[in-house]
Amino acid sequence: MSEEEIHLGLDDIDSPSGGCTTHFASLLVEYLSKHSVNWNDYPNLIRLNPGIPFRTRGNGAVSLRFTTDTIEPDEILHQIELMINDYVDRLYPNTNPGVVIVTGKIPEAISRFSKKALWRTIPIALAKRIIDEHNLVHYSSGNGRGLIGGLASIGNQLLRDHTYEYIAYRSMDQCGDTRGVDALSVKQMDEKMGDSVFSNVDDKKYRILIEPHGPDPVLYGIRGETAKSVIRAASYIKSEQKVERWTVFRTNQGTGEHLVHTMSIGDLRPYMAAIVHGFVETPPRMMEGGYVIFKITDRKSVIDCAAYEPTRSFRETVMKLRRNDEIRLHVNVRPRSKTHGLTLNVEGLEVLKLSPLIQSLNPLCPHCLRRMKSAGRGKGYKCDKCGFRGATMNKIETHKERPIEIGLYLPPLSAQRHLTRPFARNEHRNSGRPKHLIEKWHSL
Ligand SMILES: [Zn+2]
Repeated sequence: MSEEEIHLGLDDIDSPSGGCTTHFASLLVEYLSKHSVNWNDYPNLIRLNPGIPFRTRGNGAVSLRFTTDTIEPDEILHQIELMINDYVDRLYPNTNPGVVIVTGKIPEAISRFSKKALWRTIPIALAKRIIDEHNLVHYSSGNGRGLIGGLASIGNQLLRDHTYEYIAYRSMDQCGDTRGVDALSVKQMDEKMGDSVFSNVDDKKYRILIEPHGPDPVLYGIRGETAKSVIRAASYIKSEQKVERWTVFRTNQGTGEHLVHTMSIGDLRPYMAAIVHGFVETPPRMMEGGYVIFKITDRKSVIDCAAYEPTRSFRETVMKLRRNDEIRLHVNVRPRSKTHGLTLNVEGLEVLKLSPLIQSLNPLCPHCLRRMKSAGRGKGYKCDKCGFRGATMNKIETHKERPIEIGLYLPPLSAQRHLTRPFARNEHRNSGRPKHLIEKWHSL
């Protein structure tokens, strides 16, 4: 039996009746705990490039890291296969589950693969090639797309910044009914927990964000800075539906980990998550349908940018940009279509330098301080009231204040990606894998 660490990654375990990868991972945690594995980390919930179109909800994969001397990887995989068959609605063609196991040291190729999965699209063939080259124990069905997330979640060990999410699940046979999460209890939790939790209530403390709306088994999820804080936060939450099980995940949510590559416009490719530095080329326009478009240039190329309706107030900020403003955009790249070229879907805006807004006005009369009128071309100005003539006077230019400031602007919390670093986390950086897990981090 191996005392080497086992890394088990899984993804795309979904069904239209509403399964989900984290829920399945929670069932797997219970199964493995019954086989007395030693957990080396909380389950890692790894969000991948949010701009990818083919994906499970939220594009999240899960990896489990443990040692065991009671159960072999092959046996674990066999068990998972049985569990998946039991779990997944096999008639649903868009479910392409994948499970990968790495024993011992994680190969460098897999770490690189994970980094790429945060901001690029990855062909399934590349995942399969790495799996072959390293002889990895794995399982997939459908087109095997789940292997991408499975592999990517193994390679991302959350060695730098990370956060936690406590996910409470309801029973599978209640997934069609309303959850009834009590909004007041969530707001009270948010107040009590302060900045040890984040993104659970919207910016105006009005709407709660912990309750999903689909027919999935997630009852609610609470985001925070430590395992302890999310567990404590959960003790405040009331809901009509019962919590059947819960698990704490360590995750890259709220870390901005996908946005580290600054790209020139000419190097952008469809579905990239990237930062683009440039200057506003054409001022923003509000289009029918409620989205804003404008163009930016990096002095070599020009590209269309768009902020869409769900980003609400963020669009109004974007509307305040003017030609030549220097900005950095957080984007994902939409491929060209029949109606538009390659377009940057704007998810964050850093205003670096505002171009001056100059207003030129006629001078004031030195006697009665009224604005003067032109006395004709080349003849200066005259005052209507007192008749004063200023033949050598010129227009005065004043810098008008811009209704936008230097700084970072993000869409409201309800429109942010799982990976977006919210303002609430400005002062927070967690680092490294935890040395010890807290005693009770799942419901079993
Ligand atoms: Zn006058």
